[in-house]
Amino acid sequence: MDTAAATSLVAINDRIARAHARFGAPPEAVELVAVSKTFPAEAIAPFLAAGQRVFGENRVQEAKDKWPGLRQLYPDVVLHLIGPLQTNKAREAVALFDVIETLDRDKLAGVLAAEMARAGRWLPCFVQVNIGLEEQKAGIAPAETAAFVARCRDVHGLDIAGLMCIPPDGVPPGPYFAHLATLARDAGVSGLSMGMSGDFEAGIAMGATHVRVGSALFGHRERV
Ligand SMILES: *Cc1c(COP(=O)(O)O)cnc(C)c1O
Repeated sequence: MDTAAATSLVAINDRIARAHARFGAPPEAVELVAVSKTFPAEAIAPFLAAGQRVFGENRVQEAKDKWPGLRQLYPDVVLHLIGPLQTNKAREAVALFDVIETLDRDKLAGVLAAEMARAGRWLPCFVQVNIGLEEQKAGIAPAETAAFVARCRDVHGLDIAGLMCIPPDGVPPGPYFAHLATLARDAGVSGLSMGMSGDFEAGIAMGATHVRVGSALFGHRERV
């Protein structure tokens, strides 16, 4: 077994457990989504060998190149799409992924619902919220979140597991995470995917059910 992978996995899981205990969060464990984007299959294999099963990728094509082979070895892998999804890639995304975290518009909701019906695979989805209302970021506006979640469920029949956000850079993330938690309560969803390598403890403090951790596990990336 690759000890570096096992060691960083144990360290991150330990930090998650401590944050979870410290902030008195509800008893459900926080799910670690190991973000393996940009890293090749050979770099991911040691984490699978060390027991990690939930991974995140941000590009459909990259996931298609890397994951079918790894899945043959580890059929219980759960793969989250955490990057923007074009409607023309929805069919491939539904075939490759198990959870879609970046549902952010009606057109995509409609296309995903049609593709899921076609495939007979109803994947849980997170609605991405543009929590800092940043022009360069994807996501539904905070004020539109509850209505969008309702349309996803009632009009499109999608399984909405929760909300996801990426807070603005360079400012404390806590208030944004707290806001996302409030929006989730108002929208009637329980999942909260919030927190990355630099701020996952803050996410857990505000009630994260899923944290998406890349560089703290895999090391530095050349691109985001
Ligand atoms: C890259 C990425 C992450 C992981 O970022 P790190 O800072 O490396 O932990 C998490 N979420 C999303 C949406 C990402 O694109």
